[in-house]
Amino acid sequence: MRALVIVDVQNDFCPGGALATEHGSMVAEQISELVHAPSQDYRAIVATQDWHIDPGDHFSDNPDFVDSWPVHCVVGTGGAEFHPAIDAERLDETFRKGEYSAAYSGFEGHAASDVDTGLARWLRERGITDLDVVGIATDHCVKATVIDALREGFGVRVFAELCSPVTAETGETALEEMTTAGAVIVR
Ligand SMILES: [Zn+2]
Repeated sequence: MRALVIVDVQNDFCPGGALATEHGSMVAEQISELVHAPSQDYRAIVATQDWHIDPGDHFSDNPDFVDSWPVHCVVGTGGAEFHPAIDAERLDETFRKGEYSAAYSGFEGHAASDVDTGLARWLRERGITDLDVVGIATDHCVKATVIDALREGFGVRVFAELCSPVTAETGETALEEMTTAGAVIVR
């Protein structure tokens, strides 16, 4: 059984946001089409959210854009909310990560409705064996989530056109790394 995992499609990662990726809004619209497609038969649809309160040196006034970043996705701000194209009513659960430290992978998060339940357990409890992963950013949180999913034993497909990278070049490198790790890239 297969689930759709929508990674960090939040306003701060879309054009106009604090840490915008060029294709963020376009990807959000296309993910919405996938979610609402009559033919989709996902056992579950979940999303992750970068969800910062005080994540320490994840934030910096002089970010290196590798380990430190401008302030983004602060709980209670519009930047932390899903892009408007993402229909929260269609999500079976949201997994939040990064309250007090950097967290790139959705598997570091916990269910919004139950802080004791992580993504891997939640999926296994529903008999889910395979994942389709989409979202932002290809070269950071999508990659980290995909690598962890493979490590947890899930089969993983990545829809490359439904992922938004920080740069095209680093996005392609990330997709190559995901392939090497065992993911199937769908273009
Ligand atoms: Zn963050």
